[in-house]
Amino acid sequence: MNTVFKGSFTQQEPIPDAGIEAALRVMRGGRLHRYNVVDGEIAETALLEEEFAAYTGAKYALGLASGGYAIGCALRALGVRSGDKVLTNGFTLAPVPGAIAAVGGEPVFVEVTEDLTIDLDHLARLVAETDAKVLLLSHMRGHICDMELLMQICDGAGVKVVEDCAHTMGGAWKGVPSGRHGAMAAYSTQTYKHMNSGEGGFLTSDDPDLMARAIILSGSYMLYARHRAAPPPEAFEQVKWVTPNVSGRMDNLRAAILRPQLADLPRQIERWNSLYRAVEDGLRNTPGLKIIDRPAEESIVGSSIQVLLPDFTPDQIGEVLKACGTRGVELKWFGGAEPVAFTSRYDSWRYANPQSLPNTDRILAGLLDMRLPLTFSVEDARLISEIIREEVSRVALAS
Ligand SMILES: *Cc1c(COP(=O)(O)O)cnc(C)c1O
Repeated sequence: MNTVFKGSFTQQEPIPDAGIEAALRVMRGGRLHRYNVVDGEIAETALLEEEFAAYTGAKYALGLASGGYAIGCALRALGVRSGDKVLTNGFTLAPVPGAIAAVGGEPVFVEVTEDLTIDLDHLARLVAETDAKVLLLSHMRGHICDMELLMQICDGAGVKVVEDCAHTMGGAWKGVPSGRHGAMAAYSTQTYKHMNSGEGGFLTSDDPDLMARAIILSGSYMLYARHRAAPPPEAFEQVKWVTPNVSGRMDNLRAAILRPQLADLPRQIERWNSLYRAVEDGLRNTPGLKIIDRPAEESIVGSSIQVLLPDFTPDQIGEVLKACGTRGVELKWFGGAEPVAFTSRYDSWRYANPQSLPNTDRILAGLLDMRLPLTFSVEDARLISEIIREEVSRVALAS
């Protein structure tokens, strides 16, 4: 009899009690808006920003309504205008090209490597061939490229880097936290990311001018002095006259829920990584299945795992997905012709100029993806990997 996994791949843990109590306090006080404070009070949102800046090591942090908003806000702060080309990963999720399109920019997609990071040779070529002045770098599924080399390529050509850290909050490259290499970094606190406020996000930066612009953009009106992890008032003097208000603030209720989660993040990362390593170990030496090597320079947050079935046909992959699904293991495939749920491909974003990325096509054709929520135990992770191993082997042998 085949074993079946009973857990839910979309079920996150409850909000910690401390977060629930803090949220109740905010609701009882009625001051949910971040600038609604009584004398001497510091808003939850301002405190959270201070704590997030300290956690990442950034000088400045700004709480926002979503990760997608944070990316768009960074692009605006950097002065991306309608018609500007913006370099970005061919392998990413829809809110990334979406944020570029939202400011009228034109996404220019860069190929992915078999390590699932941005192809730095292709990036260097596009940097030389296009007049793009911004790279929106998605650390897609938590895979971090050689950040020193990437910054060399971009700095050398005056290309500013915005890091999309939706999947790398808590990750690092050679000990430098993800988000600390580029001019600005965006994070998401949407339910499926590393902290959960339903919707939410952050921007961080060390650049006072960029952060002053981002704060005004986010809808601070002239109340920016109520921020704590923010540049000094001088930074706003010019900026406040020329920066539009594009409201996308975080509120105190979300911030209250997030503060205890941020304090707990290092422990949660260890738990994610135990799940990740358990699945990875369970899948090693499965015929036809390639594990993605994680370089020693990378500190990972294993909230999801990816594997390649490089030689499987689409039919075989379909069979693996179906057989695993029947046994309760929900896998996503990045090679499907049609976008499904959260998963889509660069060629399904038809508002962008059509581009051909042969390496990305080849790699995504064999790419499987699986979430690892913290409601799973290490035992669950072992069972899941056993099921995948059995079904992949069965389909490989049947051909
Ligand atoms: C989730 C996600 C975003 C956007 O975050 P939201 O908070 O949902 O807007 C951006 N980039 C990537 C890679 C994501 O997965």
